[in-house]
Amino acid sequence: MELRIERIERLKRKKNAIVLAHNYQRPEVQDIAEFVGDSLELARRAMDTSADIIIFCGVDFMAETAALLNPHKRVIIPDICAICPMAQQLPREVLLAAKRAYPDAEVVLYVNTLAESKALADCICTSANAREIVRAMDASTILFGPDHNLAYYAQKATSKKIIPVPEHGNCPTHHQIALEDLIKAKDAHPSAKIIVHPECIPEVQDRADYIASTSGMVKICTDVEDEEFVIGTEVGLLHRLEKEAPGKKFYPLSTTAVCPQMKMPTLEKIEAALEQEKPEVVLTPEIMEQARKPIERMLALS
Ligand code: SF4
Repeated sequence: MELRIERIERLKRKKNAIVLAHNYQRPEVQDIAEFVGDSLELARRAMDTSADIIIFCGVDFMAETAALLNPHKRVIIPDICAICPMAQQLPREVLLAAKRAYPDAEVVLYVNTLAESKALADCICTSANAREIVRAMDASTILFGPDHNLAYYAQKATSKKIIPVPEHGNCPTHHQIALEDLIKAKDAHPSAKIIVHPECIPEVQDRADYIASTSGMVKICTDVEDEEFVIGTEVGLLHRLEKEAPGKKFYPLSTTAVCPQMKMPTLEKIEAALEQEKPEVVLTPEIMEQARKPIERMLALS
């Protein structure tokens, strides 16, 4: 493994490339990345870099977002099969039908959507800024997709009417975390604070001490004085938490909260992506232009 890491570092220098990794990536992938973060942090970091090539270790919609914001940089995704199942739940046709049914509504889409759907949105949001974004919209009715659990979380912060599109869209990794998992975790770790992601089901959100995005979780765990935490999100975040808050204890709320797509990038695939400079994220100029606008609106609002 060490030899492979040396080769990756050499290729990065030679090609003026950086590796960006989502918080849910494998530990060894996080360890060779220039930056590890959530969707919003990675999008911002992609805009700040002077690198010519961005190796994006995450899933399809994240790499697309980095490409949308960086039309003059090359964004390479180490495994083209890393496709988010939640993003697939909101194809363009479903959103168009909802827009026809609610012509006065504004559309706020979670960043976890396909570029073709983003192109139809008024604004994008992440789990870190969903509440802030829906409050900032002008319309009294918001079409919100694709995660109905995140819609529930956003609805609690506004009197506007939030309509989930599709009705039951969800992240399979978070949606399977059950209330029984939380009750068991409270029994097993009575001193621990329970932090859950807003992609979790309402019953789990309602019984947690905190609801936060992954970047919010890192901030809470490093800022507060508590020493033990039960973490209700994809288990990959625990690696970052253990590095950034050494000495504190972290327990997964569910050991089965593993996103298979997020684990697809490996060191071997990253080395191949750097060598071959592919597969590259390519979007049509029309989608690039249309989908960039709601992302830029989000960045301006948050
Ligand atoms: S954790 Fe959920 S939202 Fe994130 S990539 Fe996996 S399926 Fe998609």
